[in-house]
Amino acid sequence: MIGVRNITKTFPARSGPELTALENISLDIAAGEFVTLVGPSGCGKSTLLDLIAGLTEPTSGELTIGGHPITGPGLDRGVVFQQYALFPWRTAQANIEFGLEVKGVPRRLRAERAREMLALVGLTAFAHSYPHELSGGMRQRVAIARSLAYEPAVLLMDEPYAALDAQTRESLQEDLLAIWKRTGTTVLFITHSIEEAVYLGQRVAVMTARPGRIKRVVDIDLPDSGAGDPRSEPEFVRYRRDIWELLHDEVRAGV
Ligand code: ADP
Ligand code: MG
Repeated sequence: MIGVRNITKTFPARSGPELTALENISLDIAAGEFVTLVGPSGCGKSTLLDLIAGLTEPTSGELTIGGHPITGPGLDRGVVFQQYALFPWRTAQANIEFGLEVKGVPRRLRAERAREMLALVGLTAFAHSYPHELSGGMRQRVAIARSLAYEPAVLLMDEPYAALDAQTRESLQEDLLAIWKRTGTTVLFITHSIEEAVYLGQRVAVMTARPGRIKRVVDIDLPDSGAGDPRSEPEFVRYRRDIWELLHDEVRAGV
């Protein structure tokens, strides 16, 4: 579904040599897969996501979505950023309807679909609230609902929960997994939380310090923890430690 082949991205510097943000990155993500991406701060995670979103162009290499070259943003990809700018003059429902309007979905269907999405993220009672009337967690749920409403094949998320408190984050993580299982969307999720990466991802891609490369892709295979919290299972703790060690070397290399 997502093909990243030998991607290099450099930025011109104001003075001195140009800055290589990504160096020869390759990553393939299959349809319906949930991949999380971790790496030291400044290693190029957001740069990679912006490239896949079609917001910027690579310096070299090949990017594909569903086998087609990426030439710009598209409704096949929904993007959720850490601070998602909802339209402040639109209600939660009208924000969610936005992508459907762009797609030309008729008004009745739009409203129906937005209602479904509001229910999915538990905000039915807030359909007519404006962003300033919602908490940070609620706003982020609206942003997620908005990007899911028009059923993009791919969901690209750049530290969407970083600014939220721990409890809200955990509940949104569960929501997201439930939505992903229901819809079969392909997800690329950037986080700086190793725990979040292991909890959400079927695979965790670990990046090196800048210039960013893929250091290791770790398959996460957790036993069913039933009603318990998977985070306290020994396998979970082991994955967390392994990835911590991979990252720790990079953070040291970066200073
Ligand atoms: P991350 O998301 O992993 O923290 P980024 O992708 O935001 O890292 O940035 C990677 C590197 O590229 C950083 O050194 C950053 O300063 C640089 N960078 C990002 N965007 C630009 C830009 N538009 N112009 C110049 N440098 C940039
Ligand atoms: Mg970033």
